[in-house]
Amino acid sequence: RGVEALPESLSDYLQRSRRAQLQKEAAVKHIQPSASGWKVHLEDGVISADHIISALPAKALSCVLPPTCQSLIQQLQDISSVTVAVVNLEYEGSILPVKGFGHLVPSSEDKGLLGVVYDSVPFPEHNRPSGQTTRLTVMMGGAWFQEEFGAPETVTTEHLLARATESVSCHLGVTSAPGWTHVALHKDCIPQYRLGHFRTVESMRSFIKKKNLSLSLIGSSFDGVSVNDVIFSGRTAVEDLFGGGV
Ligand SMILES: Cc1cc2nc3c(=O)[nH]c(=O)nc-3n(C[C@H](O)[C@H](O)[C@H](O)COP(=O)(O)OP(=O)(O)OC[C@H]3O[C@@H](n4cnc5c(N)ncnc54)[C@H](O)[C@@H]3O)c2cc1C
Repeated sequence: RGVEALPESLSDYLQRSRRAQLQKEAAVKHIQPSASGWKVHLEDGVISADHIISALPAKALSCVLPPTCQSLIQQLQDISSVTVAVVNLEYEGSILPVKGFGHLVPSSEDKGLLGVVYDSVPFPEHNRPSGQTTRLTVMMGGAWFQEEFGAPETVTTEHLLARATESVSCHLGVTSAPGWTHVALHKDCIPQYRLGHFRTVESMRSFIKKKNLSLSLIGSSFDGVSVNDVIFSGRTAVEDLFGGGV
């Protein structure tokens, strides 16, 4: 198991506590102000909430807010996100010329390739029982996705795989072919913080305060994109609501 262990454990904890009701695979269609806070409309029902802590990506939240929040909707839509292709490669034996966490590639050298993580170095315990393998994660695209690979809808798995294996050969001198591969395309997965981003976020929160909306904005679109940042933004929102002793 990987990082999914974190949300799975949180979900188990909440379920066992019997103090929370979890709705999984339940897309929010729209939210509507009500006398007591909000009505949250799902595909198959409505939930009442006195406060919403939204961890939706900015664009997704903009699509579910009521028209009375037009200026907030506009600002949310202005936070764009980019697409990243993640290619996992596994090679027989120990084939890396260097040991380390991985390497990043400046866009001046290769716009398509963001970096390569040498997964088998920090996680040797994931070796196969049959013997040692080298496992790499190649990340490609980001802000240069469209320019290098075209529309995410049209790029093929074969093309992404070929580009990743070529880069590994070129950067690390690997001549063998991978024995196992996996290609995943994550559309619009990393928000881009343009100049003035934090002023925009401040202005969104001022709008929310001025309109007296029971809404907190958390998640990678606002206060930092790392896992640490998004966890911290969730914690900060809860502390703002209930005080620092939570
Ligand atoms: C390839 C890659 C590598 C990364 N590597 C690292 C790393 O090494 N270290 C690090 O710290 N960070 C890393 N990050 C960044 C980090 O993983 C993300 O920024 C972070 O996980 C985002 O968390 P989030 O909860 O804000 O957003 P997400 O995980 O995107 O969650 C948003 C959720 O909202 C849901 N949603 C959308 N619309 C609706 C709707 N209408 N109703 C209900 N739900 C909806 C989506 O289904 C999704 O589950 C990486 C990101 C990528 C893409």
